[in-house]
Amino acid sequence: ADGAAFTPIAPGDWLGLLGGGQLGRMFCHAAQSLGYKVAVLDPAADGPAAMVADRHIHAAYDDEQGLAELARLCRAVTTEFENVPAQSLRSLAAHCRVSPAADAVAVVQDRIAEKAFIAAQGIAVAPHAAVRARADLEQADEALFPGILKVARLGYDGKGQARVATRAEALAAFDDFGGVPCVLEALLALDHEISVVIARGFDGATVMFPVARNVHRDGILAVSTVALAALSGPDAQLEQQAGASALAIAQGLDYHGVLCVEFFVLRDGRLLVNEIAPRPHNSGHYSIDACVTSQFEQQARAMAGLPLGSPGLLAPAIMLNILGDIWYPDASDAQREPDWAAALAVPSAKLHLYGKREARRGRKMGHVTIVAATMAQARADAMRVAAALG
Ligand code: ADP
Ligand code: MG
Repeated sequence: ADGAAFTPIAPGDWLGLLGGGQLGRMFCHAAQSLGYKVAVLDPAADGPAAMVADRHIHAAYDDEQGLAELARLCRAVTTEFENVPAQSLRSLAAHCRVSPAADAVAVVQDRIAEKAFIAAQGIAVAPHAAVRARADLEQADEALFPGILKVARLGYDGKGQARVATRAEALAAFDDFGGVPCVLEALLALDHEISVVIARGFDGATVMFPVARNVHRDGILAVSTVALAALSGPDAQLEQQAGASALAIAQGLDYHGVLCVEFFVLRDGRLLVNEIAPRPHNSGHYSIDACVTSQFEQQARAMAGLPLGSPGLLAPAIMLNILGDIWYPDASDAQREPDWAAALAVPSAKLHLYGKREARRGRKMGHVTIVAATMAQARADAMRVAAALG
């Protein structure tokens, strides 16, 4: 059905979403701003997306009745969550347009299949080995140590990962993960990390957002910095290479919708793909405030069959993630509400909170985007915001 020509879904009609986290919430905001109504299928009772959606279908991702209700209401469905069962996307596709397609999501939600796919496009990934049994670790190349063992499925924000100095540690970590399929990657000397968000319509038209430079803490994104494109020099070359790889990946997956490719830039200057997210990405949140069209609006436009908007960056931007940790001023369980007014006293700061009831350490609660005339100003303002939020 996806290949066939179709009439765009007009604003006023319903769009469907699987998953109810913050990405879904921001999708709702963007789709509603275009005039759509959004139905969210989310097993959680009061998730960030369900609380702003026009309808919440409170059901498991594989609940037949819930999926049928979604398909009845919506001519097009997307996902904000890569771990939704590919089978659910497949069964929905019999009734309505689904983007991204189950086959693309199936590749990306399994690190073993994902790495094989990327490598098959001729794009470099980290040295790694698929680990399906202890024997795979016993035989793994010595060059993969020290390494990181990652569960092949369902990991996020550094969860389901263990740094392993030796083969013995890797075996212990594999047992710890319950012997589920994993990937063992060499621990690389990173210079920095970058990411590219790309949107691709059903007609194959693509738009690419500016490259974000990302800093992670404890495996969780902390800061994304987005500068106006470098015109020359090594940064421009890297950005161009990253863009070409992201495009090849989107085309290779025959991808429809919004996708993000995360890259490692090694100390020796080489660019490797880390992973693909089949959805808008945390490192693309800056696009809400700093681009002509946000990544979430592109997601709505792509699934509705509307033309994609300009991804153009209006000004340099810095995004700071807000984790639940800042609710805890010390090592105890005592909480205090962050000083939002102090953060917003920086006029270039745009605050986004996801409405999560409970602040937990390591939990993504919101983000702040600083949009300023120059990168120097953005950095100075970001320091003030960070200081205000402690
Ligand atoms: P997640 O699915 O949790 O985002 P990633 O595989 O992207 O998992 O890992 C999270 C972060 O951990 C990366 O962004 C990077 O900072 C670090 N990391 C992951 N793999 C490696 C590696 N092979 N070498 C060095 N750092 C790594
Ligand atoms: Mg990642």
